Amino acid sequence: MTDCVFCRIVARETHADVEYEDDAVLAFKDIYPKAPIHLLIVPKRHISSIMAMERSDAEVLGRCLLAARAIGEAKGLAERGYRLRVNCGPEGGQVVYHVHVHFLAGGRSRGA
Ligand code: AMP
Ligand code: ZN
Repeated sequence: MTDCVFCRIVARETHADVEYEDDAVLAFKDIYPKAPIHLLIVPKRHISSIMAMERSDAEVLGRCLLAARAIGEAKGLAERGYRLRVNCGPEGGQVVYHVHVHFLAGGRSRGA
């Protein structure tokens, strides 16, 4: 069993409220939501951080952005919009070292 919590969610060894899945990407609700809609979009394959990203990871990370678009459309947010955020490394606020895109929507989204 991996010690990566998001790999365990991908493997369905840890529960999460999954909202989107395709062959390369999984998206699920953040357990401590910071907005009315707060999902985490992750590549199914483990990549620790954008800071460890290699050229061969570009496609699956692009697929995460396409998943965000699909989620936005499915939730009726295609016009209103949403915020995507990727925290990178200790000073970027990254806590879980399996790269993830925060999908935040449904409230006023201001600040950095
Ligand atoms: P970051 O600070 O960018 O690494 O964000 C990690 C996020 O993962 C935080 O917003 C946490 O609330 C969230 N998180 C941690 N563990 C879980 C989990 N088991 N299920 C869902 N979200 C989680
Ligand atoms: Zn992982």
